[in-house]
Amino acid sequence: MLVLLHVCCAPDATVAVERLHEEGYEPVLYFCNPNIQPESEYIKRQQATVQLSNLWNLHLILEEPDIDSWNKQIRGLESMPEGSLRCAKCIEFRLRLTAEYAKKNGFQIFSTTLTTSPKKNAKLIFEIGENIAREYKIDYLHRDFKKKNGFSRSVQLSRKLGLYRQNYCGCIYSIRTDRAEGVRRENICNNKG
Ligand code: SF4
Repeated sequence: MLVLLHVCCAPDATVAVERLHEEGYEPVLYFCNPNIQPESEYIKRQQATVQLSNLWNLHLILEEPDIDSWNKQIRGLESMPEGSLRCAKCIEFRLRLTAEYAKKNGFQIFSTTLTTSPKKNAKLIFEIGENIAREYKIDYLHRDFKKKNGFSRSVQLSRKLGLYRQNYCGCIYSIRTDRAEGVRRENICNNKG
């Protein structure tokens, strides 16, 4: 059965795809991440997802990043820490676009690779996914891909495949704010990528 799989990044997608295949699902990758900043980083993560889809012969849809709408979604929450309401809004934004695409294109089920990350709260993602699924009258597939050493498996697979691995979640607010990283973030903001 086809599943529209929101892909946050290629490394997280590796174990998700592997497990969905084991269960007999056929995942179609949906890269939709207007949260990734700066643009150079967005390009790297998108290219890694293209690389994975080519290596494993997966169908991939690349969504145009609607950065203005994403900025509106998290406005006022920029200074909140990772894992806060800002992230819930960011995840909701991306899952809503995934559900919209699924509904328009005849997919009955959608899911996300976001649960591969140990930093992501699967329970919260499930709640968001379910609420959106109800609205669109489709199903959200609950899978916590980090379980059973899923994160380690994603690291192992992405190394083996030579995929780019990032070291922060995605938005500039998630770049570590120690002294060196603070300077880096400032440069990113000034250069706009
Ligand atoms: S830290 Fe990650 S999940 Fe949270 S708002 Fe930034 S990009 Fe989105």
